[in-house]
Amino acid sequence: MSKPCPICGRPPVDDFKPFCSRRCKTVDLNRWLSEGYRIPVADDWDEDPEAPPPQRPN
Ligand SMILES: [Zn+2]
Repeated sequence: MSKPCPICGRPPVDDFKPFCSRRCKTVDLNRWLSEGYRIPVADDWDEDPEAPPPQRPN
């Protein structure tokens, strides 16, 4: 009744369902990451590299 591995079409293995192996699971993950996930750009970068260190109360 189980669907075949979406990557290679082999029967899935319980440990890696719905994939047949760790490799296919990784392939799918990498595919998803490369297509759907973008690291947001920090566009309000207001840290001044030349700012003096914060003063500590003494
Ligand atoms: Zn597979």
